[in-house]
Amino acid sequence: DASMRVRVRLARLGTRYVLLLAEDRTEAFRLDEVRRDFVANISHELKTPIAAVGLLAEALNQAADEPLQVRRFATRLTTESGRLSRLTQEIIELSRLQAQDSLTEPEIVNVDAIVAAAVDQSRVTAEAAQVTIALGKKSRAEVSGDERLLVMAVHNLVANAVNYSGDGSRVGVGVRKNAGVVEISVTDQGVGIEEADLDRIFERFFRVDQARSRHTGGTGLGLAIVKHIVQIHGGDIRVWSQPGSGSTFTIRLPEAPYPAPAAIGDTP
Ligand code: ADP
Repeated sequence: DASMRVRVRLARLGTRYVLLLAEDRTEAFRLDEVRRDFVANISHELKTPIAAVGLLAEALNQAADEPLQVRRFATRLTTESGRLSRLTQEIIELSRLQAQDSLTEPEIVNVDAIVAAAVDQSRVTAEAAQVTIALGKKSRAEVSGDERLLVMAVHNLVANAVNYSGDGSRVGVGVRKNAGVVEISVTDQGVGIEEADLDRIFERFFRVDQARSRHTGGTGLGLAIVKHIVQIHGGDIRVWSQPGSGSTFTIRLPEAPYPAPAAIGDTP
């Protein structure tokens, strides 16, 4: 029990003991509420694809001697099971991220390489949607963090930029260093986001347009995952958007100390 552990540790702090314990309990209650909400949302979100899989299996069974129908139902079955698998992966990822507030073993990572990997992962989807991704020039920026998570964060932004854009439009991805801050921005010429929705898009399972998000295979967790990744890296994320013109998402991370401070005894 977490509050018991805190109680033992705080016992040495004398008079401040009661106050700090109360604070911790409030935080524990809040986290518990967050967890309960998340579980309720998950059950709700899983219901639709699970029901669809059941219905499609049933339909397949009944259409057994109509090859065309069989193929149609089988294709939809693949789509729905893909959605379920993505959803469960992202739920696991997000619940892990929610349980940590910093990185245990950060490493120095090259931001240009991260951005290139994230863009590569979106190439196929972008080509299918006839969206061009333009990568800016190299920044040579480095940050301290987890490479896999950072690629995931940038990839989620690029995938959204592609998904919420029209055929023939352009997505720009750039990195710049500015006074000890590394900025990674992803700009699209897509549908944009109404001001009233700007705060909400980072919430779990929030989508401006349910139908469109379902159509593109979105889970509604992408930006919540990005927000958590950025937070545990000590950064933040900003969004600028104009409905009808497009959006720019900017991740800002502290630049890794560079050049590294010389170790004591090193010759200059
Ligand atoms: P989803 O899986 O639905 O894309 P996200 O968490 O990635 O979930 O995004 C939440 C919602 O924010 C999306 O459903 C969409 O309405 C909106 N959104 C995200 N990125 C963009 C973008 N680049 N342009 C317009 N709307 C966006």
